Formats: sequence, structure tokens, C-alpha cells
Amino acid sequence: MFEKVLIANRGEIALRIQRACKEMGIRTVAVHSEADTHAMHVKLADESVCIGPPPAGQSYLNVPAIIAAAEITNAQAIHPGYGFLSENARFAEIVTAHDMTFIGPTADTIKLMGDKITAKQAAMEAGIPVVPGSKSAITDMNEARRIAASIGFPVLIKAASGGGGRGMKVAESTGVLESALQTASSEAQAAFGDGAVYIEKYLGQPRHIEIQILADTHGDTVHLGERDCSLQRRHQKILEEAPSVALDPEIRAMIGKIVTDAVKAIGYCGVGTVEFLYEDGEFYFIEMNTRLQVEHPVTEAITGIDLVREQIRMAAGHKLGVTQDAIKFEGWSVECRINAENPETFTPSPGMVTEFHAPGGLGVRLDSALYSGYRIPPYYDSMIGKLIVHGRDREEALMRLKRALSEMVVGGVETTIPLHLALLEEAAFLAGDYHIRWLENWLAERQG
Ligand code: ADP
Repeated sequence: MFEKVLIANRGEIALRIQRACKEMGIRTVAVHSEADTHAMHVKLADESVCIGPPPAGQSYLNVPAIIAAAEITNAQAIHPGYGFLSENARFAEIVTAHDMTFIGPTADTIKLMGDKITAKQAAMEAGIPVVPGSKSAITDMNEARRIAASIGFPVLIKAASGGGGRGMKVAESTGVLESALQTASSEAQAAFGDGAVYIEKYLGQPRHIEIQILADTHGDTVHLGERDCSLQRRHQKILEEAPSVALDPEIRAMIGKIVTDAVKAIGYCGVGTVEFLYEDGEFYFIEMNTRLQVEHPVTEAITGIDLVREQIRMAAGHKLGVTQDAIKFEGWSVECRINAENPETFTPSPGMVTEFHAPGGLGVRLDSALYSGYRIPPYYDSMIGKLIVHGRDREEALMRLKRALSEMVVGGVETTIPLHLALLEEAAFLAGDYHIRWLENWLAERQG
């Protein structure tokens, strides 16, 4: 096992990884920007190294500085967390070239899954159902018209290198197809340095269902069931739950088997998530995330498995500590992403946290790097914490969530806590009756 791991991230996820390392007897190295000198992940690490100025491009994305930090501290492995360098194949390659372990899949796998077109092809070849659409990047208009006509309008134009919900355009009819393709391609070129786009059937009211997998380097692969991440705003997840009200044990076992078999066929290693849209009883693959996800704690809550611990063990070459038969899904878990934002306009609200009280009690977990007197810097993502609850059933989990949200105090900045509390008063949400567009409609009506 590794003796020392460098965590190339910040905030709650850096803490989450440190916690797993501590329990495993692994020493931790934090890296931080000049804006994060007083951050919790720096205070709690065994060692820390400043890697540059506040903008992420000069610090958390600064590969030479991170590699140098790992070398001077003698770290044997680097955990990238999520975001930042976590899905950067070049970074994984560089870490490996410096005789350190990248805690994640191989650079080749990251590359394959990082391009949505090659990912979709690989998924299809491995037996995973995909969204109908073009099989490669669109290069000529006649082909685009033919594909769009065969799948039917509206269609969605997506960027091969897109991510974070960006790089998507809906085309309602043939008349706007050409202009939509051109806009999507030039926006993708500007945002991702890659103008390749493809066409997909636009699904009207699907749910976003994703399957968590674990695959060790010895050929053992298991799935840990699904998460329902349909509550989204601008394609960004706001609240996640496991299991999903939309699946039953048979469907779960069926899609779980398809995914584990496929992941094995691809030769995937590590933790990973295969994302689907689910409509009218059909699964449609949209992408694979080759890293730990923000919403992983709901899976931990219903399975009792520490995903980060398993991830680190697998990266060190150990065999999976669990078999498919031994995995049991117990109760219900819900996670709220709490952002330092105005709950109505979603304008970021960085600044000094004057007061902080964490909720507690049975079935309540708060993953957050906040403390009273901490100044939330304006440079990074506005998520300041994740509140995760677990109950024997969905009703108990939601009751507990309401109780925990009402206990939580974050003074001095605006947060999305009131938004989550309002959601918990909404009959459709309470009934589990929602899809990927439901939240935006609900927000529009409230502001109406
Ligand atoms: P990203 O990598 O940017 O997160 P994804 O492919 O995972 O992109 O899609 C993000 C979200 O966009 C999905 O959860 C869903 O809300 C929406 N979306 C993606 N593909 C489709 C589609 N074919 N039809 C309708 N909505 C889609």
C-alpha cells in the first residue's frame, strides 16, 4: 500500500480523500493556491505545498507545479479528485512517467471515454444501449440532414469534447439544423479547442440514471447500483438519490449486468460511472465518467462501501474487497449540493463565513470544508458542501433531510439551503415524479 498520497484538489473532496487515507494509515500531502492558504484541506493534511496563484489555471491545473510538489514530498501516488485534472489523460500519463501512481484508470481509457464520440462507439461495441444518432463527427450537411431525418426532430447537437453540461444545442427542425451545427461547432472550438460535434436524438422527459462500478486490475468488476440525478439546472446536478424510484430490483440487476460485462470487455480499471438517460423503460448511454463523482456518498450510504478506500486499494493493485453477491442495497439516501449562491438567481456569493453550524444526528453526513471565519474565495466552484442523509425508506430519508437542512447554519453568505427546503414542500418531488427538465420548469414557475 502507498505510504503517502498527494491530493491534487481542494474543498470537500480533498477532505473526503484525506479521510480515507487517514483510516488506511496513508500520509497525505495537500496542494493549494495562494487563495487557499487557510483552507481546511491544508490544515488537516500531514504536509502541504503552495502551487501557485489563485486562478486554477496557475495552481490546481498547473501540472509541473503539482508533479514537483509530489516529488519533493516523496508522494507515491496522486489522487485527482473530481474536476480539475481528474479526466486529463495527459496528466495521468505524466504522473505515470514520473514513476508515481495515478489513482484512476489508464491514460488510454481516459482518452477513450473523454471523447464522447469514441466513448459512445466503445460503449456500443461492448453491448451498452446508446442514444440513436450519428456514429462519428458530423462533417457534411447532407449527412447531418439524413441522420436527423432518420431519428426525427428535435435533435441534440453535442460537442465531442463537451463537459460540465456545456456544448449542447437543440435543433427543432431541418430549417435550423445548419445554423445550430455551425454555432455548436464554433462554440465547442472556443470552449474546448475541439470543434467536433455529433447528433443525437433529443429525449423529452428522461431521467438521468447512472450506474457506479468498481473494477480491479485482476479482472473482477462489480456494480453498486444506480443514482438518480435527474434534478438538474443547466445540466448541472442539484440533488441526487439512491436508489431511483424508477427502477426495480430486476431492472437494476439487468442494467447492472450489462454495464459490468461491458466495463470488463473494455478493460476498465478503478471506480467509474456509466451515465444513462432512461425513458419509457429504455436506457440510453450518454457518457462514462472515469473518476470519483460528487454524488458518490449516496451509493456509500446504501451499500456501506467506502468508495475512496476501494479506489485507492485498486490503484495499489489490490483485489476488490467485495463480490457482487455480497453487495446489498439498504434503505434510501439523498444528497443535496449546497452552493454559496443566491437561491433564486444562482449568483455566486463568496465571502466570509461568519457563523457555521453543521447538522448532525442519526443518518446525517455533511461533507464540507467550511468553518466559522473561513473566507470562501471567488475563484472556484461555488459548492460549499454536500448534505447526505440515509433512512430506512425514501420517506424517512426525506424527513431527515428536512430536519438536517433546517439545523444547518451558514452565516455571512447566501446559500441554496432555502431552495432545497422549498423542494421538500413540493408534491411532485415528494412523490419522486420528476425528470431532467422538471427542476427548471419548477424554478421558472416559482419565479413566474
Ligand atoms: P456533460 O459531460 O456536459 O455532463 P452529458 O452527456 O453527461 O454531458 O449530458 C449532461 C446532461 O445533458 C444530461 O444529464 C441530460 O440532462 C442532458 N442530455 C444529454 N444528452 C441528452 C439527450 N440526448 N437528450 C436530452 N437531454 C440530454
